[in-house]
Amino acid sequence: MVKKAKTLQIPVISEIEFAGRYTHKKTICITGSNGKTTTTLWIHHILKNAGLNAVTAGNIGESFARQVVEDLPDVYVIELSSFQLDGMYEFRADIAILLNITPDHLDRYNYEMQNYVNSKFRITQNLTENDWLIYNADDPIIEKEMAERTILAKLAPFSIEKEEGMTAYINNDQIIFNLKPSVTMSIHDLSLKGKHNVQNSMASGIAAKILEIRKENIRESLSDFKNVEHRLEFVAKVNGIEFINDSKATNVNSAWFALESMSNPTVWIVGGVDKGNDYDTLLPLVKDKVKAIVCLGTDNAKIIDSFGSHVEMIGEAKSAMEAVAMSYRFAKNGDTVLLSPACASFDLFESYEDRGKQFKFCVRGL
Ligand code: ADP
Repeated sequence: MVKKAKTLQIPVISEIEFAGRYTHKKTICITGSNGKTTTTLWIHHILKNAGLNAVTAGNIGESFARQVVEDLPDVYVIELSSFQLDGMYEFRADIAILLNITPDHLDRYNYEMQNYVNSKFRITQNLTENDWLIYNADDPIIEKEMAERTILAKLAPFSIEKEEGMTAYINNDQIIFNLKPSVTMSIHDLSLKGKHNVQNSMASGIAAKILEIRKENIRESLSDFKNVEHRLEFVAKVNGIEFINDSKATNVNSAWFALESMSNPTVWIVGGVDKGNDYDTLLPLVKDKVKAIVCLGTDNAKIIDSFGSHVEMIGEAKSAMEAVAMSYRFAKNGDTVLLSPACASFDLFESYEDRGKQFKFCVRGL
């Protein structure tokens, strides 16, 4: 239907573009390859705690259009996938957030990374001098594009590696939000662990600062936010073995951050539908942290080829039940079993949620 409409030169727009034409309320729009849902919910949490009438929309929550009709909220916090951005033309965000750009969905973009990058950068396309762009200055692709593009918005870069010119940065384990009056908080007080969540908290805190949320509210909400299911979710400890469900890690970069945050010897459950993965970046972490691998997919050749000779044990499973049983055999007291597949789930499961739920069910049955 879409192809036919396009050949007849009928514009095809996304729901966000459509609904955006009928509201003048503030919009905070979040995109990136990873961390969109977490950051969207984190910002929503801060705004709600500060007493604003904020709602989520886009790739999450209720339909944007429906909420625009009801016209109740003060602020929309909108998660945008590249698919939604592809159907957006005139929409303008008040605050746009670009978290990171790493390979994902390349099957949809003719295996051309630049097409995917351009799609993500559509979030900046109509920003004016009055709007803001919050972005990850540690991301090499974003940095390169920022140097080449003209963006009118006020810029708010964040970094965990550098300080100069950053709107949020780290000094002595303190995050500094450098918008007057500045806010400081310890990274150890963040409720979510891992470097990626430091980045998500920085993006969220900057957005809150721009909306002039009080610093007490920002600190409190950054330290009491609870993440959603399937994102580095602790499931259970069985005979001293910890089980973590990160089923939402459907690409290499999200699995990278999961492995990076592991502090025990790890049995890693990985695999599924490969969207054009390059596993090279994971090799140093695998060598350092992973003792055994359980492949959970119909075709595991690429994973076995990439990692087989670097771990003590590797096996193949065709169901969550088999994967949990095998990982339990491979692990011993003090180890962590991590489901962080780096792939989509559709070969063996209905969705990443189905994969995560089956995993948790089997772990609880051990
Ligand atoms: P998205 O909505 O973009 O898919 P989620 O917040 O649902 O992002 O997280 C998806 C996966 O990516 C999870 O495995 C999570 O642990 C990981 N993740 C979350 N934030 C980031 C980030 N900033 N960078 C890399 N990985 C992240």
